[in-house]
Amino acid sequence: MTKKLKILVVAGDGIGPEVTGEAVRVLRSVAEQGGYDFQFREEPIGGVAIDAHGTPLPESTLKAALDSDAVLLGAVGHNKFNALPPSERPEAGLLKIRAELGGFANLRPSFAWPGLSQNSPLRPEVVEGADILFVRELLGGLYFGHPRQWDKTANAAWNTMRYTRDEVVRVAKVAFDLAQKRRKKVTSVDKANVLEVSQLWRATVTEVAKEYPGVALEHQYVDAMAMHLMNQPRSYDVVLTENLFGDILSDEAGVITGSLGMLPSATIGGKVNLYEPVHGSAPDIAGKGIANPLGAILTAAMLLRYSAGLEEEAAAIEAAVKKVVGEGARTADLARGAEKPQVLSTTQMAAKVREALAVRTGASVR
Ligand code: NAD
Repeated sequence: MTKKLKILVVAGDGIGPEVTGEAVRVLRSVAEQGGYDFQFREEPIGGVAIDAHGTPLPESTLKAALDSDAVLLGAVGHNKFNALPPSERPEAGLLKIRAELGGFANLRPSFAWPGLSQNSPLRPEVVEGADILFVRELLGGLYFGHPRQWDKTANAAWNTMRYTRDEVVRVAKVAFDLAQKRRKKVTSVDKANVLEVSQLWRATVTEVAKEYPGVALEHQYVDAMAMHLMNQPRSYDVVLTENLFGDILSDEAGVITGSLGMLPSATIGGKVNLYEPVHGSAPDIAGKGIANPLGAILTAAMLLRYSAGLEEEAAAIEAAVKKVVGEGARTADLARGAEKPQVLSTTQMAAKVREALAVRTGASVR
């Protein structure tokens, strides 16, 4: 168990600072209650970094990230930079920090929070009880394969979906290790009826599965998976995908939760793990104090789980979120009908989570 943790906070733009500020307060409560030494350092990324340093990922931010035990990121992006070429925009800082930290496994939980099933576009009886963890390969496949080109004279363009066996083995092991601690099932997604790269993927995952006799493995074609995920989300535990399929399916699975503001993520396996809520900088609500901080707070729970080995504390944060949401606490994005007059601000919602956490140990709330 890690007692000391250097956490770099790169809050970024828009609602990034609002929600990461609350995630940090939750982490401080955990440190205080458990007697841990969490050290926080803040550095700019995205639009605020362009304003201050002329670049979306200053060297000083990258250096601090590489020198930390974990990076907690808010969100990047601001309309005022839309005229810049993509390589100079705030989002370029995000892509660069992800690449430099080098995580190859992107973890995206999709959980049907009790009390929020009405918020999903799917019927409550379909989503209730769903608890899925996507493990998406992040550094290979179509997004990185060569050759890649848009040949304008030939009016043709091409990309390459390429995987090596080793790339599949390492991400498959992450999925099976995680499944061992959950409900012991891995669903591997591919298109092995058409793509050779998927045939390699399927053969390799099947081979890795032999090292995990206690974990059940099933294979699903990506097209069928897109349908089953909406029809029977409860039947999945860990879902293992290559890069492109995971990009699409993990977003699709986000609808189970009912709000973008509830979704956390972690990218692990590189030099330093990177933790970020799934949502963006939400310029339409930035500065209003109404953003949902729960995605960022749940991201902090993932940080404790995967970078500090503090499973009990991570689970306690998730239980606190479950409790407050179950009791009807709602930020504006979650409120429906009669709940709307009682909506909570970002800080009020986060305070409820800290209160629920403190009740666990009888600690005081800050
Ligand atoms: P977005 O996720 O910022 O917002 C989409 C919608 O969801 C908006 O209506 C927003 O108000 C709402 N929303 C998002 N998070 C919320 C929260 N925590 N609480 C309540 N409501 C929330 O996506 P977008 O509008 O497409 O993009 C806005 C900017 O963010 C763009 O510049 C985009 O490039 C950037 N972006 C960044 C990331 C990231 O940093 N990881 C991800 C996606 C988009």
